[in-house]
Amino acid sequence: MIDTEEKKFKYIYGPVFSWRLGVSLGIDLLSREEKICSFDCVYCQLGKTKNFTEERKRFVSAEEIVKEIESLSSLEVDSITFSGMGEPTIAENLGEIVRKIREIRREKIAILTNSSLMDREDVRRDLALFDLVIAKLDTSSEESFQKINRPMRDIKFSQILKGIEEFKDKTKLVLQIMFVEENKDQAKKLAELIRKISPSQVQINTPLRPSKVRPLSEKIIYKIKEYFKGLNTICVYDVKKEKVSPLNEEEILRRRGEL
Ligand code: SF4
Repeated sequence: MIDTEEKKFKYIYGPVFSWRLGVSLGIDLLSREEKICSFDCVYCQLGKTKNFTEERKRFVSAEEIVKEIESLSSLEVDSITFSGMGEPTIAENLGEIVRKIREIRREKIAILTNSSLMDREDVRRDLALFDLVIAKLDTSSEESFQKINRPMRDIKFSQILKGIEEFKDKTKLVLQIMFVEENKDQAKKLAELIRKISPSQVQINTPLRPSKVRPLSEKIIYKIKEYFKGLNTICVYDVKKEKVSPLNEEEILRRRGEL
């Protein structure tokens, strides 16, 4: 039993049941009221991006995060996952925070990234400290990248691809694709591209949580999955959701854009 009734957490949230990571405790290195991101994806559950940035800076100190995690010593989860109110790699103390969490927790540590900063060596160095780097690759061309991910003006598709390809430890690399109407016809091309990258896993998603964009049906997603045959692939419809009791329901809903 965890003594959490009176505790308020600012930077950690969950645990939630994640179809890709099991019971997962979330870490939000940005922890702002509004998301901060280098993309404005059409399907984003957090709404429109108002604060665009790709400039790395410190939002929260490592000590503050560690203090919250230490207060949950009896909590058992499958994974500690960096995600939250935007793109976590823009936190410049990302590496320091992963190292500190490793000293006090034994679970696998994962990060969900939009891949936009992966062409930077300092970012790849920080990502190498994780057990799993779940990197976004929604499209196979510049044109649809601009339409679906709507990045900051200077971010190009070639830069995203280069960053992913240059990430050395492919055993840690997982590619996540959010399929919507706009990119569903690119499944074959994306599968060919991803085969060359050879990640440890491919995660096929469609926006099942509240979003401005409608999800693709189970039938279409399973059709898409066939193109990825031979790769280690899971899709959001493969996993049955389990109920997990969170520390604070409100903090999860806020980070899902449901408040
Ligand atoms: S990268 Fe993630 S947080 Fe940023 S706009 Fe896209 S879905 Fe939203």
